[in-house]
Amino acid sequence: MAWSVTGIGVGEGLALGRAWVLAPASFDLPRREIAALDIEPEIQRFQAAIAQIEEEFEVLRAALGQEPAAEVRAFIDLQAVVLQDPLLVEATVDRIRKESCNAEWALVQQFQAVAAQFDAIEDAYLKERKADVEQLVERVLKALQGTENLSTVLAQQSRQPDDLPWILVARDIAPADMLLIREHQFVGFATDSGSPTAHTAILARSLGLPAVVGLQTLHGMVSQGEEVVLDARAGVVVGSLDDALRDHYASQQAEQALEQEKLKRLKTVAAKTLDGQAIRLLANLDLPDDARAALEAGCDGVGLFRSEFLFMNRQEPPTEEEQFEAYRQVILVMAGRPVTIRTLDSGADKDVPAISAGRGHPTNPALALRAIRLCLAEPELFMTQLRAILRASAFGPIRLMIPLVSGPQEIIAARRMIQAAMDSLRSQGLAFDQAIQVGAMIEVPSAAIAIDSLVAHIDFASLGTNDLIQYTLAIDRTDSEVAHLYEPLHPAVLRLIRDVIKACDRANTPISLCGEMAGETSLTRLLLGLGLREFSMHPIEILRVKQVVLRSTLGDLSRPVGRLLRLPEGKKIRAELQKLNV
Ligand code: PEP
Ligand code: MG
Repeated sequence: MAWSVTGIGVGEGLALGRAWVLAPASFDLPRREIAALDIEPEIQRFQAAIAQIEEEFEVLRAALGQEPAAEVRAFIDLQAVVLQDPLLVEATVDRIRKESCNAEWALVQQFQAVAAQFDAIEDAYLKERKADVEQLVERVLKALQGTENLSTVLAQQSRQPDDLPWILVARDIAPADMLLIREHQFVGFATDSGSPTAHTAILARSLGLPAVVGLQTLHGMVSQGEEVVLDARAGVVVGSLDDALRDHYASQQAEQALEQEKLKRLKTVAAKTLDGQAIRLLANLDLPDDARAALEAGCDGVGLFRSEFLFMNRQEPPTEEEQFEAYRQVILVMAGRPVTIRTLDSGADKDVPAISAGRGHPTNPALALRAIRLCLAEPELFMTQLRAILRASAFGPIRLMIPLVSGPQEIIAARRMIQAAMDSLRSQGLAFDQAIQVGAMIEVPSAAIAIDSLVAHIDFASLGTNDLIQYTLAIDRTDSEVAHLYEPLHPAVLRLIRDVIKACDRANTPISLCGEMAGETSLTRLLLGLGLREFSMHPIEILRVKQVVLRSTLGDLSRPVGRLLRLPEGKKIRAELQKLNV
């Protein structure tokens, strides 16, 4: 009899394979009394385990090669920093000495003391860091006990019959291990913990792997080597497959592969609705290396380059020269297509230690000195970036986009800085685009509501719906406890989107949308009906959205979409929207 467990699907697609169950290290360990003579060897055993983990991190870093997978690197570095923390290492050694106990016991006791401090913190982001420490402690325990870490799993994996690919099943997966999953033959992963905004989920999306997270009980249900299906679209893992079910999923998988092949044929097809309206499909990039994938997907340019990832995972912010090279790399790959570079959007859930170190921790990071506010408060930092962007603009069409704009005053101040950067480049005889376009992200409700007063100051605008939803609905986008209230289809959100598009159209200001909504095919027709003609999304989503565009008739959309906006709540809008999507 088949069983299934439901969680939250992340990414797209279906994977059929054998479960590789990664046993969690048990935190419920016995205390052993260590004789006085054995205390130093016990400490050495603990230190050897720490050294082993350090070595594993080195291997992981080397596996990254030249590819600056900034998020992955940042996670490894974060764990490597925690591994050096005296609160974890020295304090554990002290406990072994003072309490004459075994290293595992001392480590778990110390972790519980640290965890209690995390629990007392109000801030959700910092609270989440407890999971990072927990994963690290788990790693050290496994090293102490000689049980498998992912690296040992991978060595064994290569000795197993590989009639089917492997799906990793774990209580949780350390972000650093996600890289190994990509480097090896895992075709998906399933975890008991996690939410769509957790680190592992973010990485899964950027690695293009299907995943199901938040499964709660899967880990105890599935046995090693058992054949399972992981369906990210339905957010479900199915096991104990009989022949009929196996055939069903195998044919779905074949269909999926066929669909992918068919989609590829759309690469060179112009994105036009059935009634002839051209739609621009742009790419969101996190790193310069993503530009190639964006081009492969046939994008019309870059609608959002998240420059803050260049600032992560390093001690100092990147120099003007480093930034210039990164921006130039993207512009050269894009070969004449426009590239929208967003200036540094650090803060809130995207902490950049190279900048935030030494600053106090704000009570509410999402409402604090972040993005353009921070750049205006740190003119030297901002000037370095502006000079780098301007210099790169000599190599192709660049648009400069300012994040978290709340009203005209920030654009006016930013423009003043841009002017100063231009003057300094001019005096040095350095080339740049004198007419560079300057735009604003519309992601703060005040900017959306008073868009009329902003359009006179900008050359283009882009709706940042990820944040616009968070601020409009007062839902922290990183907090799993309120994640169910994060509703892109809330009438207030949709009305803001509609009004911004209308106001921009009236003012002849190009408007795009670069939040996650742009890549959701179930929302493509809704957005077309709201008047959107420019979408910017993750490269893997471009062809799917193009397919919907090619099958849509604009003339059939505006009236039903107008009716949707009069409905009182997201749930009703979602139900009605389904009719529009058939
Ligand atoms: C947004 O807020 O919609 C956006 C695209 O930017 P980010 O997700 O980087 O905040
Ligand atoms: Mg944003």
